Amino acid sequence: MGMVGGGPGAFIGEVHRKAARMDGQIELVGGAFDINPAKSKKMSKVLYLDPKRCYRTYEELIEKELKLPEGVRMDFVAVTTPNNWHYPIAKELLEAGFHVMCEKPMTISVKEARDLVKIVRKTRRVFGLMHNYTGYPMVKLARDMVKKGELGKIRKIVVQYPQGWLATAIERTGQQQAAWRTDPKQSGGSGCGGDIGTHAENLSEYITGLKMTHLCAELTTFVKGRRLDDDVNCLVKFNNGAKGVLHASQISVGEENNLAIWVYGETGGLEWHQEHPNYLYVKPIGKPMEVWMRGNPYVGQCSPAAGRATRLPNGHPEAFIEAFANIYVNFAETVRARKEHRKPDPLALDFPDVHDGLRGMQFLETLLASAKSNQKWTKFRT
Ligand code: NAD
Repeated sequence: MGMVGGGPGAFIGEVHRKAARMDGQIELVGGAFDINPAKSKKMSKVLYLDPKRCYRTYEELIEKELKLPEGVRMDFVAVTTPNNWHYPIAKELLEAGFHVMCEKPMTISVKEARDLVKIVRKTRRVFGLMHNYTGYPMVKLARDMVKKGELGKIRKIVVQYPQGWLATAIERTGQQQAAWRTDPKQSGGSGCGGDIGTHAENLSEYITGLKMTHLCAELTTFVKGRRLDDDVNCLVKFNNGAKGVLHASQISVGEENNLAIWVYGETGGLEWHQEHPNYLYVKPIGKPMEVWMRGNPYVGQCSPAAGRATRLPNGHPEAFIEAFANIYVNFAETVRARKEHRKPDPLALDFPDVHDGLRGMQFLETLLASAKSNQKWTKFRT
């Protein structure tokens, strides 16, 4: 594994590094870790890596790694930079023959996203997208319950992702993560929608297997002088007639990462909270609510995908980093299968890919179009 991004003071690169190494299947061998070449070089000391493989730029990484024999050379590279860099870096890596694990949102436009779909198809490389919330065992269990029809026909989906960390203009204090997230050039056309709205969109489609067809959205910028939205409120129509409410916010004071989802079918409902991820609440019609708890054998019996995504027995909580690791385990098995010219374990194909990335960008373009429009519904732009 190599990495682009994740330099000193960066947030998500270090989570990727911890998660990728969790199961002993992936070894980090180098990277181009920072936009500042000197800081990237310095990461060899921080991460105990060969200084020769801590490159000044991603272009240098590609050039020098290609000179190494296969087996020594990086098999794949994780792209953990701000959004505007995902497309150019992923494109060059794929075209040079590397498999790619990319952060979300996949690109900053539908055009770039479509292009990446084509490049992945042409190069036959494995492309993973870090919609990490699909990596939680109880989310996989929820998906499999819906798939088995245990809730009946789905009628209503409520998904929320409120945070409060951008309730004031911390981008003006130089806070690294806030600075680029509120800059349209680096973040894309929607701030809150791109950063966390896409997670809500992806989670609702992953669990229900449904597709959004229409949005009615309002984007607001509450903090004075901020250049992108910091609050999203959206009504949704799904392709089976189900209705939804999606809200995401960065100004909801007191909220941390309160991603949660409620799914209601004709014969049951379910509820999952990211901040308490080891529990899935299932509500069969006319019966008491059930609390399904991660790590119990009944979870794996109902959902082999959830069982596979579980490392520890019940009562020993697993959460954010393990969910990333679950995406990495499946991605690694798929890369390995590609290298060995065999079919991967079918359960390993359960990780978000370039098509989810395109869907995310289409969601954002529809969201922005709807927010600008006076008509009630805007058709999902596919
Ligand atoms: P960050 O600002 O903390 O880190 C970004 C890093 O990328 C920095 O070290 C920066 O120097 C480096 N970088 C920038 N351009 C580069 C380039 N051209 N070459 C090499 N390095 C470069 O940002 P972050 O909060 O870690 O977010 C990074 C990405 O991860 C974003 O796309 C964000 O949306 C995504 N993210 C995803 C999750 C998740 O839950 N899946 C959570 C946080 C962030």
